[in-house]
Amino acid sequence: MPPYQRGAALHGMGAAIEYAVRDLKVDHIVVLGHGHCGGIKALLNAADGHWPDRDFIGDWVAMALGACKHYVRDDDAEGGRREVSIARLKANPDLVERAAILGSLDNLMTYPWLAARVEAGDLVIHGWWFDIESGDLWATEPGRRQLLPVD
Ligand SMILES: [Zn+2]
Repeated sequence: MPPYQRGAALHGMGAAIEYAVRDLKVDHIVVLGHGHCGGIKALLNAADGHWPDRDFIGDWVAMALGACKHYVRDDDAEGGRREVSIARLKANPDLVERAAILGSLDNLMTYPWLAARVEAGDLVIHGWWFDIESGDLWATEPGRRQLLPVD
C-alpha cells in the first residue's frame, strides 16, 4: 500500500481504499502477504542493483524498501540496532515479506480519514502473512506492529 499522496498521478490503490473506507464503511482491512513472494524477490534484486526490466514493477516493489530497513534490524555489539545487509535479507526473504506488510499498515495510517476511523475504534487494520510452505497464518494484534503465528 503506498502512502497518502494527492496530486498528478492516478492512484488506483488510494481510490480503492477511499471507496472502501469512506463510502462502503468497511469495518476491517487486511493486508495479506505471503511466502515465496515474487514481488519481494524483485525488491531484493532491485536493492541489490538489478532493477527489473519492466515499466512499473521496479518502482512499485521498491516502495517497500523503507519498511524493510525500518522493521528488519539486527542487534549490534553495543546493544543498538543496525541495518541488515541485502545479502542476509536475500537469504531470509520472509523477514522482508513481513516487513512489507507492516510498512503497508503504516502507510494506511497516513490516509487521514482512515486514521480517524482507526483512532475512533470504528475500523481495524490487520496484517496477515501466509506461510505457503507450512500453511500457517501469521497475524498482527489490533493496534500492534508485530506479526506472530496464529494458534
Ligand atoms: Zn507476492
